[in-house]
Amino acid sequence: MFPDTRMRRIRRNPALRSLVRETSLQKDKLILPLFFDETIDRRREIPSMPGIYNNPLSDVESVISRAAGEGIGSVLLFGVPGKKDGVGSGAYADDGVVQKAIKRTKDVSDVLVIADLCLCEYTDHGHCGCISHGDVDNDATLELYAETAVSLASAGADVVAPSGMMDGQVAAIRRALDDAGLKDTAIMAYSAKYKSSFYGPFRDAVHSAPSKGDRSGYQMQWGNRREAMQEMFLDMEEGADILMVKPAMPYLDIIREARDRFDLPIAAYQVSGEYSMIKAAAANGWLNENDAVMESLTSLFRSGADMAITYFAESVAKELDR
Ligand SMILES: [Zn+2]
Repeated sequence: MFPDTRMRRIRRNPALRSLVRETSLQKDKLILPLFFDETIDRRREIPSMPGIYNNPLSDVESVISRAAGEGIGSVLLFGVPGKKDGVGSGAYADDGVVQKAIKRTKDVSDVLVIADLCLCEYTDHGHCGCISHGDVDNDATLELYAETAVSLASAGADVVAPSGMMDGQVAAIRRALDDAGLKDTAIMAYSAKYKSSFYGPFRDAVHSAPSKGDRSGYQMQWGNRREAMQEMFLDMEEGADILMVKPAMPYLDIIREARDRFDLPIAAYQVSGEYSMIKAAAANGWLNENDAVMESLTSLFRSGADMAITYFAESVAKELDR
């Protein structure tokens, strides 16, 4: 007790503060999401995500080389296809936009390629699966996810990341990959994915807002914690290699509980709205951008995440090099 115990003793000297720091950011724990868009031939800034671009396929080499040069070791790829249809066939086309982006990425670097696996960027209705009788058909969608997984992995993806929250998706994908001889392709499961208001800017980026209805039939509601643990348990049982919590900062309690319960690696996705919130406040002079970014990302690791997906990956990598 005071005065014998004085917590401030270890806070005064910067070197001592470093020694006692419990959580630090590391570049090799960051994953950079990238958008490649088949419909454009020059990069376009996403209005609600200042500094983040939709990139044409012709920019794959330069975008990847720049990120690799900054020390980014892992990217998460999303695609915007030239054509959308009811069953999202662009997602599993061998000449699909992401398949092309993966091949071009692998041609110029050995950066780890994680391919987002969903149909919502590829369906004309914007839902994450195919529709029958006015609803997303879970089991029919699994077949399309399985086909997509094999297509992405065959193109060279090291990791596939199913994000559609269909029941049984990890098992279906694992089985399909194994049957196709792709036993070493890992699965990063978007296990606890909430139906979040923080995804708004991302939907601007990939034009994937559902035209009718919303995603509450498959994504989780905000108030549920135990349900998230059940989702993660099932994904683990189905063969996931990495479990993900999305979004990140509004769900730190979920990350912490997942860390305490499961021994699989945990990924946290700092989503577009979390990015845009910090950017907007900083642009107004209300927050110091750099400090807010470092603090928000540190909170994810302190909560127990092993890795973070963040649109700030490149700026953080630069900051860590300073
Ligand atoms: Zn989706």
